[in-house]
Amino acid sequence: MNIILLGPPGAGKGTQARYLVDDRDMIQLSTGDMLREAKDSGSEMGKIVAEVMAGGNLVTDEIVIGLIRERLEGDKQGGFIFDGFPRTLAQADALAALLEEKGETLDAVVEMQVDDEALVERITARSTCGDCGEVYNDITKPQPADGKCGNCGGSEFKRRADDNADSLKQRLMEYYKKTSPLIGYYYAKGALRPVNGLGEIDEVKAGIASALG
Ligand code: AMP
Repeated sequence: MNIILLGPPGAGKGTQARYLVDDRDMIQLSTGDMLREAKDSGSEMGKIVAEVMAGGNLVTDEIVIGLIRERLEGDKQGGFIFDGFPRTLAQADALAALLEEKGETLDAVVEMQVDDEALVERITARSTCGDCGEVYNDITKPQPADGKCGNCGGSEFKRRADDNADSLKQRLMEYYKKTSPLIGYYYAKGALRPVNGLGEIDEVKAGIASALG
């Protein structure tokens, strides 16, 4: 099964993708994670995207489509979760072509619905474990009092450079201008599965499970 997790920044795509990886042996393909890795590695491409990402803008279609193309070559296990990709109509068309080339199908597009106020709260309170990527939230899921990640025991926690009010404003603008048209695009293809992303993590997880059948 190959699926897309679609939703604005802070909708919980990364958190839910991690559950799908554990529960269904799927492979998470997060273009955001790939771009952050490129940035941290100091590669030429990393240098190009760093400023774009810091400002909350989208990097070029060419770069992200290239990253996804490379990853589709590898093992697919229980299928791919596209997390944060596609973000433009051109990326959606490119994904359709890539999947067709590989003889693969797109089985569902889970649209995670949340309101803007919740997004701002989630993003400004968000941190992750530097070792395993477990996601924490200062209000709903604080980092353990002993300073050790509940998942892996790691003791370094990170906050994303673009999880600040200014970048977030631009990221939301990009989402509404360039990514939200994908909701209609996938609805027309009969692939859209809307899920309420506002509840507790387990409720959202159950909503996704029932949407995927
Ligand atoms: P994310 O981790 O998905 O929130 O992505 C973080 C940042 O990486 C975004 O704000 C964009 O600058 C960039 N990015 C991630 N995925 C894409 C994509 N599919 N298309 C363009 N830019 C992307």
